[in-house]
Parts: sequence; C-alpha cells; structure tokens
Amino acid sequence: MTDDTLLDRALIRLEEAASHLQIDQDVIEKLKYPRETTKTRLLIRMDDGSRKSFLAWRCRYDDTRGPTKGGIRFHPDSTIEEVETLAFWMTFKCAVMNLPYGGGKGAVRVDPHALSKTELERLSRAYMQAFASTVGPDRDIPAPDVYTNAMIMGWMADEYNQITGSVSPAVITGKPIALGGSLGRNDATARGGFYLVRHLAQELGLSGSRTVAIQGFGNAGQFFAQLADEDGNKIVAVSDSTGAIHKPDGLDVARLIEGKNAGRHVADMAAELGAAVIPSDDLIAVDADLLVPAALEEMITVDNAASIKAKVVLELANGPVTAEADKILTDKGIVVLPDILANAGGVTVSYFEWVQNRQGFYWDLEEIHARLKKMMEREGRAVWAIAQDRSVSVRSAAYIHALGRLATAIEAHGTQPFFAG
Ligand code: NAD
Repeated sequence: MTDDTLLDRALIRLEEAASHLQIDQDVIEKLKYPRETTKTRLLIRMDDGSRKSFLAWRCRYDDTRGPTKGGIRFHPDSTIEEVETLAFWMTFKCAVMNLPYGGGKGAVRVDPHALSKTELERLSRAYMQAFASTVGPDRDIPAPDVYTNAMIMGWMADEYNQITGSVSPAVITGKPIALGGSLGRNDATARGGFYLVRHLAQELGLSGSRTVAIQGFGNAGQFFAQLADEDGNKIVAVSDSTGAIHKPDGLDVARLIEGKNAGRHVADMAAELGAAVIPSDDLIAVDADLLVPAALEEMITVDNAASIKAKVVLELANGPVTAEADKILTDKGIVVLPDILANAGGVTVSYFEWVQNRQGFYWDLEEIHARLKKMMEREGRAVWAIAQDRSVSVRSAAYIHALGRLATAIEAHGTQPFFAG
C-alpha cells in the first residue's frame, strides 16, 4: 500500500492524457493543484441543547472555463483529499460536456442519518453561512451529492438569500421545483448514463435486452434501474451500504424502489422478491452484461477487478475504479465508460437549471430530456471517436477531450512561449 492520496491517483489520468497531446507545461502546472480549498468547522445546536462541531470544506479546483460547479457531500468518511479529488473530476467533467464551468466540490464530515431533520437543517444552513462568500451564481455553484438532496439545497438557497438580501436561485442547483429547481434534475445522472449506453449500444456489443448489476441503490442507482428496466433490460443484482441481492431472471425494480423509499435495505427485501442475499463484494462478479457502480469511489480495485464478468462498466459513481483496476479491466477487454462522461448527466441538467434561473424562463420536461440526450450523444460520440482514432481507452479519450478544451482556455490566458519570448 502506497501513501499517495486519492488526488495523486486521480492525477495519473491527467498525466496520461497529457502524454497524448501537444500541450504547454503551464497547463499541467495549473491543473495539478486546486486553486483554493477552504476548511472550517460548523458549530450547531443539537436538539438536546448541546452543541456539536463538524468539519466542512469547499474546494474551487479550477475556474478557467467558468464559475466552479460541484456538489456537497455529507458523509462520515469525507476528507479534504476526497473533496479536492471530486473537484478535480468536476473540472474535467464540465470540460468533457463543454459546460461553461470549472470544477468545485464541498463536504461535511457527518453521518446525516444520525441527525434529526431539524439538526440537518441547522447544519445545512450553517454550511451556507460559512461559505456564503465563496459561493455565488457567477463564482461557485453547489449541488447535491452523496447523502444530500433537494430539500437540503432548498435550505441552503434560502440561507444564501437571507444573507445577501436577494433572491438568487442560480446560486445552487438541484433545488426543489418550487424554489426554481429544474424538471428532470432528479433522474438526470442516471438518464445521462442511460442515453449514453443506448447511443453506443451497437459499438459496445449491448444491443437488445441486457442484464444489469447495480452497486449502490441511491439516487443514481435507483433511477438507472428504473430506466433500464422500462427499456426491457433485466436488473439481476443490486446492493446498498448494508448488503446485496441477486436474482438471475430479474428483480422487481418498482417494489425495490418502493421499499427503499420506505427506509428499508435491499437485503431485507430479498425473500419477498425471490432473490438470494449475496456478500456485498460479490455483486460486481455476478453474470451481467452491464455493471453499474453507483455507490462510492475506489470500490473496484486490484483485489476484485479480475472477478468482473460484465462486458461494459458504466461509472455512475465518481472514481469507482482505481487506476490499477482500470488496467486489469482493459486487459480483459471490458469497456469502461468513465465517470467524467458517464455520470455527467447530473451536472448537465444542473447547468440547465442555472440557465433557466438566470433567464427566468423554464423549459418543459420534454425539452430537458431532448437537450440532455443531444449533449450526451454528441460528447459521447466525440469521446468514442477519440478512443478509436488513438487506440486508447474510453477513459483516456474522455480526459484527452476535456484536457484539449481546458488547455485551449488556459492558453488563452497567456502562453508560455509568449512570456518566455
Ligand atoms: P445516494 O446517497 O443517493 O446513494 C448512495 C448509495 O450508495 C446508497 O444506496 C448507499 O447505501 C450506497 N452505498 C454506500 N456504500 C456502499 C457500499 N459500500 N456498497 C454498496 N452500496 C453502498 O448518492 P447518489 O447521489 O446516488 O451518488 C452515488 C454516486 O454517484 C456517488 O459517487 C456520487 O458522487 C455519484 N454522482 C451522483 C450524482 C447525482 O446527481 N446524484 C451526479 C454525479 C455523480
């Protein structure tokens, strides 16, 4: 085990992409480090009258292409390295999709499930109080991430408006519809991945009915299961943080989602769904055409990558496959549709939300879906073409695609030859 950080490991992908492009060293120097990361402590009043302090961060990794954009995670294992790495990935994700944004991210180290609703509201408002001068519609625009949701974004938007004495819905995306949220944001991450796979189905060898295994059954995992199920695929295995279930002839997705929404774990529903409970680690090894990691980062590693039987891995989670595991998958001929493309539907509809907030004119769901589909297909096709032309993995191709755009923008601020001359 090396002592390099998650960010060090993420930067391997930047270096790899750079080796395929003729780019100025200035570009790499700029993208190797986060521009700014603010750390603070949120001190909130608990329901029992005591006060409790929580570590919190906001990182603005790079804003060359526009205001920084990225979610806020509430998780007991959050660290500064994780926040900065997620912000790095957001920088590349926005560039892959050609959104006019840089990358950011935030987190609070907390187990939100251990808080009451009123404590959660105080924590969310405290986060916005702490970072009100960092965020802003033209500076840094947060959104939901793991264990945060529309309700939390609504509290944060309200707090920002109280602090600034304005009504600025564009300060945060993923809001409730009633506060300026966009139609179609709730399933956008899954839908973007779904459009991508469907568009490239023939190239991926996934035409016709497919079997699908999904790791993580939250926002991204559930909506993907629903869309894939409705499209005639079989969802043969799913997992959450407490366990995994397997049913080779297909799970009843509607009942699973209903149970999850009622606060149950997937393994508790196995018997009534006619499914077998399997060890969580075995989920990635089940027989399925498509494996969808939709939980947390670094879940597929050198220790388990060889067991994967799927033809294609769709990374709805951020960073679920380590760089070493990536090599194993490539050697096995498994195509990985990488996070910075595969889960970019979420930030794309967040962008639509921001655009609608700023123009004060709102699109219907049909228009949102059509725009998302067009952008996923356009950038997905461009990335696929780079992979074919250069004989590189789809991940490398996505980084090359993004880095080209970032480099053009960074160089437009002044190039090394100009200053050296
Ligand atoms: P979520 O909180 O709604 O769901 C996370 C799910 O992962 C939960 O079902 C949880 O039980 C499960 N999980 C946690 N640890 C697990 C483990 N060890 N094994 C199996 N399952 C486990 O979060 P989400 O919004 O669906 O995000 C999931 C992933 O997708 C994250 O990596 C996130 O960064 C990424 N992502 C989400 C969005 C979005 O719009 N929601 C956008 C882009 C990327």
